[in-house]
Amino acid sequence: MAARNSQLATGHGPLQLPAYFPDATRGVVRSVDSPDLVGCGVRGLVVNTLHLSHNPGVGLIKAAGGIHRFMGWDRPIASDSGGFQLLSMIRSNPRYGTISDRGIHFIDTDRGNQRTLFTPERSIRIQFDLGADLMVCLDDCPRPDASPVENAATVDRTIAWAARCRAEYDRLLTARGHQFTVRPLLFAVVQGGYDPDQRARCAEGLLPLGFDGYGFGGWPLRPDGTLADDILALTASLTPDDRPRFALGLGKPENILRCHRLGWQIFDCVLPTRDARHGRLYVWNEPTPNPLAPDFYHLTYVRDAKHKRQNRPISSGCDCHTCQHFSLGYLHHLFDIGDPLAMRLASIHNLRFYTRLLEQIAACTEQP
Ligand SMILES: [Zn+2]
Repeated sequence: MAARNSQLATGHGPLQLPAYFPDATRGVVRSVDSPDLVGCGVRGLVVNTLHLSHNPGVGLIKAAGGIHRFMGWDRPIASDSGGFQLLSMIRSNPRYGTISDRGIHFIDTDRGNQRTLFTPERSIRIQFDLGADLMVCLDDCPRPDASPVENAATVDRTIAWAARCRAEYDRLLTARGHQFTVRPLLFAVVQGGYDPDQRARCAEGLLPLGFDGYGFGGWPLRPDGTLADDILALTASLTPDDRPRFALGLGKPENILRCHRLGWQIFDCVLPTRDARHGRLYVWNEPTPNPLAPDFYHLTYVRDAKHKRQNRPISSGCDCHTCQHFSLGYLHHLFDIGDPLAMRLASIHNLRFYTRLLEQIAACTEQP
Protein backbone atom coordinates (compact mmCIF):
# COMPACT_ATOMS: atom_id res chain seq x y z
CA MET A 1 0.00 0.00 0.00
CA ALA A 2 2.86 2.32 -0.93
CA ALA A 3 0.80 5.33 -1.99
CA ARG A 4 -1.31 5.43 1.17
CA ASN A 5 0.61 8.18 3.00
CA SER A 6 2.81 9.57 0.29
CA GLN A 7 3.75 12.89 -1.25
CA LEU A 8 2.73 13.84 -4.75
CA ALA A 9 4.76 16.37 -6.75
CA THR A 10 2.55 18.97 -8.44
CA GLY A 11 3.04 22.22 -10.29
CA HIS A 12 2.01 24.05 -7.12
CA GLY A 13 4.14 22.26 -4.58
CA PRO A 14 4.17 18.85 -2.97
CA LEU A 15 0.82 17.43 -1.99
CA GLN A 16 0.82 15.33 1.17
CA LEU A 17 -1.59 12.38 0.98
CA PRO A 18 -4.16 11.53 2.14
CA ALA A 19 -5.88 14.82 1.41
CA TYR A 20 -9.35 16.26 1.32
CA PHE A 21 -10.09 18.76 -1.48
CA PRO A 22 -13.13 21.04 -1.02
CA ASP A 23 -15.15 21.59 -4.19
CA ALA A 24 -14.62 25.05 -5.66
CA THR A 25 -17.13 24.20 -8.37
CA ARG A 26 -17.42 27.67 -9.90
CA GLY A 27 -13.99 28.87 -8.87
CA VAL A 28 -14.94 29.51 -5.25
CA VAL A 29 -15.54 27.46 -2.14
CA ARG A 30 -18.76 29.17 -1.22
CA SER A 31 -18.54 31.77 1.59
CA VAL A 32 -14.78 31.47 2.17
CA ASP A 33 -11.72 32.94 0.45
CA SER A 34 -8.24 31.56 -0.18
CA PRO A 35 -6.65 32.83 3.08
CA ASP A 36 -9.57 31.22 4.97
CA LEU A 37 -8.87 27.93 3.19
CA VAL A 38 -5.15 28.09 3.96
CA GLY A 39 -6.04 28.80 7.58
CA CYS A 40 -8.20 25.66 7.59
CA GLY A 41 -5.24 23.57 6.38
CA VAL A 42 -6.78 22.89 2.96
CA ARG A 43 -4.12 21.43 0.66
CA GLY A 44 -5.95 21.54 -2.65
CA LEU A 45 -9.22 22.29 -4.41
CA VAL A 46 -11.36 20.76 -7.14
CA VAL A 47 -12.87 23.00 -9.82
CA ASN A 48 -15.58 22.11 -12.28
CA THR A 49 -14.42 22.22 -15.90
CA LEU A 50 -17.88 22.52 -17.38
CA HIS A 51 -19.19 25.29 -15.12
CA LEU A 52 -16.04 27.38 -15.53
CA SER A 53 -16.02 26.94 -19.30
CA HIS A 54 -19.57 28.36 -19.37
CA ASN A 55 -19.01 31.13 -16.87
CA PRO A 56 -16.77 33.12 -16.89
CA GLY A 57 -15.35 31.14 -19.85
CA VAL A 58 -12.03 29.37 -20.14
CA GLY A 59 -10.63 32.12 -22.42
CA LEU A 60 -11.14 34.70 -19.69
CA ILE A 61 -9.47 32.49 -17.07
CA LYS A 62 -6.56 31.75 -19.39
CA ALA A 63 -6.14 35.50 -20.08
CA ALA A 64 -6.23 36.15 -16.33
CA GLY A 65 -3.15 33.93 -15.95
CA GLY A 66 -4.90 30.64 -15.21
CA ILE A 67 -7.21 29.36 -12.53
CA HIS A 68 -4.71 29.73 -9.68
CA ARG A 69 -4.10 33.42 -10.29
CA PHE A 70 -7.79 34.05 -11.03
CA MET A 71 -8.77 32.56 -7.66
CA GLY A 72 -5.77 33.79 -5.69
CA TRP A 73 -4.88 30.22 -4.73
CA ASP A 74 -1.32 28.93 -5.02
CA ARG A 75 -1.77 25.34 -3.85
CA PRO A 76 -2.73 22.38 -6.07
CA ILE A 77 -5.96 22.44 -8.08
CA ALA A 78 -7.65 19.41 -9.59
CA SER A 79 -10.15 19.80 -12.40
CA ASP A 80 -12.83 17.26 -13.20
CA SER A 81 -13.46 16.19 -16.78
CA GLY A 82 -16.76 18.04 -17.03
CA GLY A 83 -18.53 14.93 -18.28
CA PHE A 84 -20.32 13.79 -15.14
CA GLN A 85 -22.93 16.58 -15.10
CA LEU A 86 -23.62 16.28 -18.83
CA LEU A 87 -24.02 12.51 -18.68
CA SER A 88 -26.29 12.72 -15.64
CA MET A 89 -28.52 15.28 -17.34
CA ILE A 90 -28.73 13.38 -20.63
CA ARG A 91 -29.32 10.00 -18.99
CA SER A 92 -32.11 11.46 -16.84
CA ASN A 93 -33.68 13.38 -19.73
CA PRO A 94 -32.82 12.74 -23.41
CA ARG A 95 -33.90 16.25 -24.39
CA TYR A 96 -30.47 17.36 -23.12
CA GLY A 97 -28.71 15.40 -25.85
CA THR A 98 -27.14 12.09 -26.76
CA ILE A 99 -23.94 10.16 -26.09
CA SER A 100 -21.94 8.57 -28.90
CA ASP A 101 -18.44 7.20 -29.30
CA ARG A 102 -17.38 10.63 -30.61
CA GLY A 103 -18.39 12.36 -27.37
CA ILE A 104 -21.27 13.97 -25.54
CA HIS A 105 -23.71 15.80 -27.81
CA PHE A 106 -25.19 18.34 -25.40
CA ILE A 107 -28.26 20.51 -26.02
CA ASP A 108 -28.06 23.57 -23.73
CA THR A 109 -31.68 24.45 -23.02
CA ASP A 110 -30.55 27.51 -21.05
CA ARG A 111 -28.88 28.91 -24.17
CA GLY A 112 -31.56 28.58 -26.83
CA ASN A 113 -30.99 24.85 -27.36
CA GLN A 114 -27.41 25.50 -28.42
CA ARG A 115 -25.76 22.24 -29.49
CA THR A 116 -22.25 21.42 -28.32
CA LEU A 117 -20.07 18.36 -28.90
CA PHE A 118 -18.04 17.74 -25.77
CA THR A 119 -15.19 15.39 -26.66
CA PRO A 120 -12.35 13.82 -24.67
CA GLU A 121 -9.93 16.11 -26.52
CA ARG A 122 -11.94 19.20 -25.66
CA SER A 123 -12.10 18.25 -21.99
CA ILE A 124 -8.30 17.96 -21.85
CA ARG A 125 -7.77 21.23 -23.74
CA ILE A 126 -10.01 23.09 -21.29
CA GLN A 127 -8.17 21.57 -18.33
CA PHE A 128 -4.84 22.65 -19.84
CA ASP A 129 -6.19 26.17 -20.44
CA LEU A 130 -7.39 26.38 -16.86
CA GLY A 131 -3.91 25.40 -15.70
CA ALA A 132 -5.00 22.54 -13.43
CA ASP A 133 -2.34 20.52 -11.61
CA LEU A 134 -4.38 17.32 -11.64
CA MET A 135 -6.55 16.56 -14.68
CA VAL A 136 -9.13 13.81 -15.09
CA CYS A 137 -9.94 11.96 -18.32
CA LEU A 138 -13.45 12.18 -19.70
CA ASP A 139 -15.21 8.91 -18.86
CA ASP A 140 -18.64 7.42 -19.42
CA CYS A 141 -20.41 6.95 -16.11
CA PRO A 142 -23.31 4.47 -16.20
CA ARG A 143 -26.47 4.92 -14.20
CA PRO A 144 -26.57 2.90 -10.98
CA ASP A 145 -29.36 0.76 -12.50
CA ALA A 146 -27.64 0.24 -15.87
CA SER A 147 -28.17 -3.15 -17.51
CA PRO A 148 -25.12 -5.42 -17.98
CA VAL A 149 -25.06 -4.50 -21.68
CA GLU A 150 -25.19 -0.75 -20.93
CA ASN A 151 -22.54 -1.14 -18.24
CA ALA A 152 -20.18 -2.97 -20.61
CA ALA A 153 -20.69 -0.29 -23.27
CA THR A 154 -19.71 2.46 -20.81
CA VAL A 155 -16.53 0.53 -19.96
CA ASP A 156 -15.64 0.28 -23.68
CA ARG A 157 -16.20 4.00 -24.10
CA THR A 158 -14.31 4.92 -20.94
CA ILE A 159 -11.25 3.03 -22.20
CA ALA A 160 -11.49 4.51 -25.71
CA TRP A 161 -11.99 8.05 -24.37
CA ALA A 162 -9.10 7.65 -21.93
CA ALA A 163 -6.83 6.71 -24.86
CA ARG A 164 -7.95 9.85 -26.71
CA CYS A 165 -7.43 11.97 -23.57
CA ARG A 166 -3.97 10.51 -23.17
CA ALA A 167 -3.10 11.30 -26.81
CA GLU A 168 -4.38 14.87 -26.51
CA TYR A 169 -2.56 15.32 -23.20
CA ASP A 170 0.70 14.13 -24.80
CA ARG A 171 0.17 16.44 -27.79
CA LEU A 172 -0.47 19.49 -25.60
CA LEU A 173 2.38 18.64 -23.27
CA THR A 174 4.77 18.54 -26.24
CA ALA A 175 3.43 21.89 -27.46
CA ARG A 176 3.32 23.61 -24.08
CA GLY A 177 5.76 21.59 -22.01
CA HIS A 178 8.15 24.53 -21.59
CA GLN A 179 5.49 26.23 -19.43
CA PHE A 180 5.71 23.61 -16.71
CA THR A 181 8.34 22.99 -14.05
CA VAL A 182 6.24 20.00 -12.99
CA ARG A 183 3.91 18.66 -15.66
CA PRO A 184 0.20 18.35 -14.83
CA LEU A 185 -0.90 14.95 -13.59
CA LEU A 186 -3.42 12.95 -15.62
CA PHE A 187 -5.81 10.58 -13.87
CA ALA A 188 -8.06 8.01 -15.55
CA VAL A 189 -11.36 6.82 -14.09
CA VAL A 190 -12.17 3.15 -13.55
CA GLN A 191 -15.80 2.41 -14.37
CA GLY A 192 -17.71 -0.89 -14.38
CA GLY A 193 -20.57 -0.28 -11.96
CA TYR A 194 -21.12 -2.97 -9.34
CA ASP A 195 -19.84 -5.72 -11.66
CA PRO A 196 -16.35 -6.96 -10.60
CA ASP A 197 -15.62 -8.38 -14.05
CA GLN A 198 -16.35 -5.07 -15.75
CA ARG A 199 -14.23 -3.18 -13.20
CA ALA A 200 -11.36 -5.56 -13.97
CA ARG A 201 -11.88 -5.18 -17.71
CA CYS A 202 -11.84 -1.38 -17.39
CA ALA A 203 -8.62 -1.38 -15.34
CA GLU A 204 -6.99 -3.80 -17.80
CA GLY A 205 -7.83 -1.42 -20.63
CA LEU A 206 -6.59 1.70 -18.81
CA LEU A 207 -3.36 0.54 -17.17
CA PRO A 208 -1.34 0.00 -20.39
CA LEU A 209 -2.10 3.62 -21.36
CA GLY A 210 -0.15 4.77 -18.29
CA PHE A 211 -1.72 7.34 -15.97
CA ASP A 212 -0.44 9.23 -12.95
CA GLY A 213 -3.36 8.08 -10.81
CA TYR A 214 -6.78 6.49 -10.95
CA GLY A 215 -10.25 7.63 -9.89
CA PHE A 216 -13.24 5.65 -8.72
CA GLY A 217 -15.97 5.99 -11.34
CA GLY A 218 -19.66 5.60 -10.66
CA TRP A 219 -21.47 5.42 -7.38
CA PRO A 220 -19.47 4.59 -4.24
CA LEU A 221 -22.74 4.18 -2.33
CA ARG A 222 -25.26 1.44 -2.95
CA PRO A 223 -28.90 2.40 -3.55
CA ASP A 224 -29.59 1.85 0.18
CA GLY A 225 -26.96 4.49 1.07
CA THR A 226 -24.34 2.07 2.40
CA LEU A 227 -20.74 2.21 1.21
CA ALA A 228 -19.96 -0.21 -1.63
CA ASP A 229 -16.89 -1.52 0.25
CA ASP A 230 -16.34 -4.55 -1.93
CA ILE A 231 -16.26 -2.63 -5.22
CA LEU A 232 -14.14 0.17 -3.73
CA ALA A 233 -11.63 -2.39 -2.40
CA LEU A 234 -11.61 -4.33 -5.67
CA THR A 235 -11.13 -1.19 -7.78
CA ALA A 236 -8.23 -0.07 -5.56
CA SER A 237 -6.65 -3.52 -5.90
CA LEU A 238 -6.86 -3.31 -9.70
CA THR A 239 -4.66 -0.19 -9.88
CA PRO A 240 -0.95 0.11 -9.01
CA ASP A 241 -0.07 0.80 -5.37
CA ASP A 242 2.48 3.43 -6.38
CA ARG A 243 -0.19 5.59 -8.04
CA PRO A 244 -2.57 7.74 -5.98
CA ARG A 245 -6.26 6.90 -6.00
CA PHE A 246 -8.96 9.56 -6.08
CA ALA A 247 -12.31 8.54 -4.56
CA LEU A 248 -14.17 11.29 -6.52
CA GLY A 249 -17.13 12.74 -4.64
CA LEU A 250 -17.16 10.48 -1.61
CA GLY A 251 -18.10 12.51 1.42
CA LYS A 252 -19.20 11.45 4.92
CA PRO A 253 -16.37 11.37 7.49
CA GLU A 254 -16.95 7.70 8.34
CA ASN A 255 -16.93 6.80 4.63
CA ILE A 256 -13.68 8.70 4.03
CA LEU A 257 -12.10 6.79 6.91
CA ARG A 258 -13.29 3.43 5.56
CA CYS A 259 -12.36 4.31 2.01
CA HIS A 260 -8.83 5.28 3.04
CA ARG A 261 -8.46 1.86 4.67
CA LEU A 262 -9.52 0.34 1.35
CA GLY A 263 -6.66 2.09 -0.46
CA TRP A 264 -7.93 5.53 -1.53
CA GLN A 265 -6.02 8.74 -0.73
CA ILE A 266 -7.70 11.79 -2.34
CA PHE A 267 -11.21 12.84 -1.41
CA ASP A 268 -13.48 15.68 -2.48
CA CYS A 269 -17.05 16.55 -1.61
CA VAL A 270 -19.35 19.49 -0.98
CA LEU A 271 -20.73 18.05 2.26
CA PRO A 272 -18.85 20.13 4.88
CA THR A 273 -19.59 23.49 3.24
CA ARG A 274 -23.16 22.58 2.31
CA ASP A 275 -23.84 21.37 5.85
CA ALA A 276 -22.24 24.54 7.22
CA ARG A 277 -24.58 26.75 5.22
CA HIS A 278 -27.51 24.82 6.71
CA GLY A 279 -26.16 25.21 10.24
CA ARG A 280 -25.00 21.59 10.63
CA LEU A 281 -21.64 21.59 12.35
CA TYR A 282 -19.25 18.65 12.78
CA VAL A 283 -18.02 18.13 16.34
CA TRP A 284 -15.43 15.63 17.61
CA ASN A 285 -16.73 13.47 20.43
CA GLU A 286 -13.41 13.58 22.27
CA PRO A 287 -11.28 16.66 23.10
CA THR A 288 -8.41 15.09 21.14
CA PRO A 289 -9.72 14.10 17.69
CA ASN A 290 -9.66 10.35 17.26
CA PRO A 291 -11.22 8.97 14.07
CA LEU A 292 -10.49 5.42 15.24
CA ALA A 293 -12.97 5.74 18.11
CA PRO A 294 -16.46 4.41 17.38
CA ASP A 295 -18.89 7.27 16.69
CA PHE A 296 -16.02 9.75 16.64
CA TYR A 297 -18.16 12.79 15.84
CA HIS A 298 -21.69 14.17 15.98
CA LEU A 299 -23.54 17.06 14.37
CA THR A 300 -24.50 20.22 16.26
CA TYR A 301 -27.49 22.07 14.81
CA VAL A 302 -26.51 25.67 15.46
CA ARG A 303 -29.99 27.05 14.86
CA ASP A 304 -31.44 25.08 17.81
CA ALA A 305 -32.80 27.49 20.43
CA LYS A 306 -30.87 25.69 23.17
CA HIS A 307 -27.62 27.19 21.78
CA LYS A 308 -28.77 30.80 22.15
CA ARG A 309 -26.94 31.43 25.44
CA GLN A 310 -23.95 29.13 24.88
CA ASN A 311 -20.72 30.97 25.64
CA ARG A 312 -18.48 28.03 24.77
CA PRO A 313 -17.10 27.42 21.26
CA ILE A 314 -18.78 24.99 18.86
CA SER A 315 -16.20 22.35 19.76
CA SER A 316 -13.80 22.60 22.69
CA GLY A 317 -11.18 20.51 20.90
CA CYS A 318 -11.26 22.52 17.68
CA ASP A 319 -8.37 24.78 16.66
CA CYS A 320 -10.22 26.60 13.86
CA HIS A 321 -10.51 30.39 13.55
CA THR A 322 -14.21 30.26 14.45
CA CYS A 323 -13.79 28.23 17.63
CA GLN A 324 -10.76 30.30 18.68
CA HIS A 325 -12.66 33.61 18.49
CA PHE A 326 -16.43 33.10 18.70
CA SER A 327 -18.99 31.30 20.82
CA LEU A 328 -21.70 28.89 19.71
CA GLY A 329 -24.23 31.44 20.99
CA TYR A 330 -22.78 34.17 18.74
CA LEU A 331 -22.93 31.85 15.72
CA HIS A 332 -26.56 31.03 16.61
CA HIS A 333 -27.25 34.77 16.61
CA LEU A 334 -25.59 35.25 13.19
CA PHE A 335 -27.72 32.46 11.71
CA ASP A 336 -30.80 33.92 13.42
CA ILE A 337 -30.37 37.34 11.77
CA GLY A 338 -29.22 35.81 8.47
CA ASP A 339 -25.85 37.56 8.37
CA PRO A 340 -23.45 36.19 5.69
CA LEU A 341 -20.74 35.93 8.36
CA ALA A 342 -22.65 32.92 9.72
CA MET A 343 -21.93 30.97 6.50
CA ARG A 344 -18.25 31.90 6.53
CA LEU A 345 -17.62 31.02 10.18
CA ALA A 346 -19.59 27.77 9.96
CA SER A 347 -17.78 26.78 6.73
CA ILE A 348 -14.38 27.47 8.31
CA HIS A 349 -15.25 25.21 11.24
CA ASN A 350 -16.50 22.33 9.09
CA LEU A 351 -13.60 22.57 6.64
CA ARG A 352 -11.14 22.42 9.52
CA PHE A 353 -12.97 19.35 10.84
CA TYR A 354 -12.41 17.65 7.47
CA THR A 355 -8.75 18.65 7.06
CA ARG A 356 -8.09 17.54 10.64
CA LEU A 357 -9.88 14.26 9.95
CA LEU A 358 -7.41 13.56 7.14
CA GLU A 359 -4.47 14.67 9.30
CA GLN A 360 -5.60 12.27 12.03
CA ILE A 361 -6.18 9.43 9.57
CA ALA A 362 -2.63 9.94 8.26
CA ALA A 363 -1.23 9.99 11.80
CA CYS A 364 -3.07 6.77 12.66
CA THR A 365 -1.71 4.98 9.62
CA GLU A 366 1.91 6.24 9.60
CA GLN A 367 4.19 3.78 7.86
CA PRO A 368 7.07 2.44 9.97
ZN1 LIG B 1 -13.98 24.99 15.03
